[in-house]
Amino acid sequence: MNASISAPAQPAGYPHFHYRDGALCAEDVPLQLLADRLGTPLYVYSRAALRAAWESYRDAIGDRDVLVCYGMKANSNLAVLKEFARLGAGFDIVSGGELQRVLAVGADPARIVFSGVGKQAWEMRKALETDVKCFNVESEAELNLLSDVATSMGRTARVSLRVNPDVDAGTHPYISTGLKENKFGVAIADAPRVYQAAASLPGIAVTGVDCHIGSQITDVSPYLDALDKLLDLIDGLAAAGIHIEHLDLGGGLGIRYTDETPLRPAALLDQVYARLDARGLSHLKLIMEPGRSLVGNAGVLLTTVQFLKHAEARNFAIVDAAMNDLIRPTLYDAWHGVLPVHPRGGATQEYDVVGPVCESGDWLAKQRALAVERGDVLTIESTGAYGMVMAGNYNTRPRPAEVMVDGAQFHVIRQRETVEDLMRGESTLP
Ligand SMILES: *Cc1c(COP(=O)(O)O)cnc(C)c1O
Repeated sequence: MNASISAPAQPAGYPHFHYRDGALCAEDVPLQLLADRLGTPLYVYSRAALRAAWESYRDAIGDRDVLVCYGMKANSNLAVLKEFARLGAGFDIVSGGELQRVLAVGADPARIVFSGVGKQAWEMRKALETDVKCFNVESEAELNLLSDVATSMGRTARVSLRVNPDVDAGTHPYISTGLKENKFGVAIADAPRVYQAAASLPGIAVTGVDCHIGSQITDVSPYLDALDKLLDLIDGLAAAGIHIEHLDLGGGLGIRYTDETPLRPAALLDQVYARLDARGLSHLKLIMEPGRSLVGNAGVLLTTVQFLKHAEARNFAIVDAAMNDLIRPTLYDAWHGVLPVHPRGGATQEYDVVGPVCESGDWLAKQRALAVERGDVLTIESTGAYGMVMAGNYNTRPRPAEVMVDGAQFHVIRQRETVEDLMRGESTLP
């Protein structure tokens, strides 16, 4: 029925992932070599790609006052975090565990913002001890708890309210967060009242306004729609005597998975500053929280074809990676390119690329034109974001190893898990 879709000729992570003499490479390292040495499934990242993505923000910012806080839930491997910390990034964290990770790589607390809809008291305490830059508060109840925790510690929590501007970011429903039916943030209509409440609470200092409207956004208009509403709010707050220092626009910039034309940071920032200038608000400090756009196309997942199965209605390439390793196709119906590490000449057939897990939902790609045989290594493209971080252990499958390529070198940045790791902490009854 549907024509099969083949990936564009150029790998999505080009130029850091590219074919050289018929072999797909990450920078100067052939991916086949990594599969042979380290086994599959294997997540492979390119250090140069991480840096290039960072530079696209840095160049867009120029000498404007913008703090980029990496939305680290996209990929929280310590080596990735350390790389961004070295480059001068701040971090957007969503849990006490993420705070511990960024502190482990020496992140500057003055560049950490704490987001999330369900922060617990112990997490607030830890973040207050660390003296993070700002709590992005998502409800009045959270505000009250934060006030209690901060006063009990004799501290002041700097806060911004995450405002839900009710704009449609035009993405998948699971990754759209700025509509009024979403669980996130304070409705824009309630925001002035909640800000008044915040301003009168002990242990709370209002410093910012925050939003995060969704993910994989490729169009500037939802950002500008949200911005207009937030600037109206900021004007209103100023009139009420509440002065806002920073405006946090969240993350959400998309990447190219197939044929998308992503919104570039420069295009977004130029338009944002045009609005700020027009309204006399360009003194506001800006915070951005990009996740996917910093890491998504800096990583691939390598997997080996175990069996080919030619069923009546479909051809299946059964591979050694599964939904537990990469859940995006199952969870979001996400499309990831599939490229052979060593393309074979000859006729292609249409395959569903599926894993060994006992679920029909366990698929990585559907209806792809591939020329493959048993033992071939395939690359699942654009899996640097929301790949390994969402991996689990269903079917007692140890999670993949992760490796970072740097020029002609590579470094294992996470060992492959073992079944012993998975059983650790379990016990049988006496
Ligand atoms: C997930 C998230 C981000 C990062 O989003 P991307 O789409 O990966 O850029 C930023 N801020 C918050 C609050 C988030 O929840």
